[in-house]
Amino acid sequence: MADGQGNISPELRETVQRIREQVCALHDYLPKSGLVSWTAGNVSARVPGADLMVIKPSGLEYEQLTPESMVVCDLHGDVVEGSYSPSSDTGSHAYVYRHRPDVGGVVHTHSTYATAWAARGEAVPCVITAMADEFGGEIPVGPFALIGDEAIGKGIVETLAGHRSPAVLMRNHGVFTIGKDARAAVKAAVMTEDVARTVHLARAYGEPIPISPDDIDALYDRYTNVYGQRPGNNGAHQR
Ligand SMILES: [Zn+2]
Repeated sequence: MADGQGNISPELRETVQRIREQVCALHDYLPKSGLVSWTAGNVSARVPGADLMVIKPSGLEYEQLTPESMVVCDLHGDVVEGSYSPSSDTGSHAYVYRHRPDVGGVVHTHSTYATAWAARGEAVPCVITAMADEFGGEIPVGPFALIGDEAIGKGIVETLAGHRSPAVLMRNHGVFTIGKDARAAVKAAVMTEDVARTVHLARAYGEPIPISPDDIDALYDRYTNVYGQRPGNNGAHQR
């Protein structure tokens, strides 16, 4: 545990270093997947076994990120260790970790197609099986909230409480995703943009056909509980 004086106990040191490396490396996916422009967008991860999180420093370009430049904060967003200021979204990430003990990673982007849905305040309807698989329904819209305090975090937690989706479109702003770890949250951010684009194109040329709630349940259940690698299963088709 951090003692609030900027020290991290020797027992936690190795874990913090591992999470610093993980969070730094996961940031590569954001520009690589076309989810971010300039310095917008950020990834954070909870430090297992501690009330701490690791998050991107504010304003650094993606090429400049190193494990050492990542910032360690407590779950109120106060810096515990780091030479840079943390992302301006830190308070929102921290709020999510405080209120969702099941969440180990949070990602934020302004990815183009998803943010276009957010600008209209319109949820992405579940009209393709890949969405039923990953999101278990629509990708919902959260309230408009100003950056800087906990309003965004509160909007994320309240909106996602009523949905299976690991992603929320914060109105007029962009995408926030959650996951059991940071990698899962990054995957959700990539998939959010992918389906937002597909459904946008579908709608541009006609009216997408809804999938029935029963079929969405069946797809989500299969994907969540059956699909992919299982211990002792050497199949090679995990997404
Ligand atoms: Zn933003």
